[in-house]
Amino acid sequence: MRSPLERVVRDVHASLTERHTEFCACEQCADDVVALVMNQTKPRYTTTGLGWAVEAADLDTDQVRAQLSVLVFEAMHRVAEQPRHAPSETVTSKPREPGR
Ligand SMILES: [Zn+2]
Repeated sequence: MRSPLERVVRDVHASLTERHTEFCACEQCADDVVALVMNQTKPRYTTTGLGWAVEAADLDTDQVRAQLSVLVFEAMHRVAEQPRHAPSETVTSKPREPGR
């Protein structure tokens, strides 16, 4: 199940890849970026008491988005350095699962 945080992270990632088209925006890289950000935000948010079990609405503030943008951007750089596919092989149109 997706947390509200993950939803916002994916949203932030989507808008960042729109602005920074040099980064691969395929699902695989998106998943990697989200995973990296989630790993970082989880301890951070719990230790600061901000709590990421906060209401989804609280995550949609500009402040939280700005904070997450920094983390997402860092993660995008890390994923871009070590993509799980060949650099030329940008999986923009992932083949659909058969029988979807
Ligand atoms: Zn990719």
